[in-house]
Amino acid sequence: MKAGIVGLPNVGKSTLFNCLSNAKAQSANFPFCTIEPNIGVVNVPDTRLQKLEELVNPERVLPATVEIVDIAGLVKGASKGEGLGNQFLGNIRETDAILHVLRCFDNENIVHVDGSVNPVRDKETIDIELQLKDLETVDKKLEKVKRAAKTGNKEAQKEEAVLLKIKQGLETGTSVRALDINKEDRAEFVKPLQFITDKPVMYVCNVDEDAATTGNAYVEQVKAAVANENAEVIFLAVGTEADITELESYEERQMFLEDLGLTEPGSAKLIRGAYRLLDLETYFTAGVKEVRAWTIPVGATAPQAAGVIHTDFEKGFIRAEVIAYNDFVSFGSEAKVKEAGKMRVEGKEYIVKDGDVMHFRFNV
Ligand code: GDP
Repeated sequence: MKAGIVGLPNVGKSTLFNCLSNAKAQSANFPFCTIEPNIGVVNVPDTRLQKLEELVNPERVLPATVEIVDIAGLVKGASKGEGLGNQFLGNIRETDAILHVLRCFDNENIVHVDGSVNPVRDKETIDIELQLKDLETVDKKLEKVKRAAKTGNKEAQKEEAVLLKIKQGLETGTSVRALDINKEDRAEFVKPLQFITDKPVMYVCNVDEDAATTGNAYVEQVKAAVANENAEVIFLAVGTEADITELESYEERQMFLEDLGLTEPGSAKLIRGAYRLLDLETYFTAGVKEVRAWTIPVGATAPQAAGVIHTDFEKGFIRAEVIAYNDFVSFGSEAKVKEAGKMRVEGKEYIVKDGDVMHFRFNV
């Protein structure tokens, strides 16, 4: 599962990417500077993991991760293949969620490709390119479906109506995710077409240092503009946070964050947001060798969760022993949870809950 960072040139994408991942992408005050998609794997900050570490005192701790892809080079005209645009649109199609970075800071020294700072216009510029790409997809499909609909095929007629709604929406600047289409039709006709503008999105407003905890007028404009999109909007002083990540010691970094009025980096909030956006959740294994966070899709069953550790665990699944995170913490150890009769034994049908601490029993 991966989230792609998109946005116009010079809005702070590669700075954000640097901030998030250990891989250092090129960043310079120059449009088109990052032309290769950069991929980074980022730990998902989770205070529960620290708590479990305190209680279990394991040899090592492994957090959950998200893959982040820096997709640079989207510009006006990208859908027509300008500025390597088509390649970038292809890269976006391969992601599961989109982090859309918007420049919400003033700085005359940093060139804006369209001459002035206006995040709502920038968002629309990117959206239009993505919508044009989706329009190609829907047109292609419509051609086929129309023929079938003409023969009187009821299912095809239903599909045609949905596709026409999408076409009309895209032509008037509405992304697929924001269209009023019911759940069944979405599952049957929309999902299989994998529209880019149907992917979950989070808007990341890149603000200046002085707006790190308050946001600013640009952020408010963005919030108003996306109010009907059911999308998350966060603000983050990307440049400042990138500077802070360069500092050597944790104490120093923490001190600078506190100066900004933050208790943790905004990027931590962003990664957790991306994780939610991807519809992922976490269960834990907590042994003396290793305390570890495992990533599963929301709604995964116990055998599916076991399969994340090893496919054999899924195939040979017998049962799971489950401790709710809160029980683990309030009783303080697995042994005490067992004594209190709070450890549950669950079977194949069990839907894993976020934070469950699990053991699997399986046949090999
Ligand atoms: P990209 O083209 O979207 O990847 O943009 P970059 O990350 O390369 O950033 C472009 C320029 O803007 C670089 O010189 C960054 O140092 C600068 N920059 C990025 N974020 C901020 C910010 O929050 N505030 C200010 N003042 N400059 C920033």
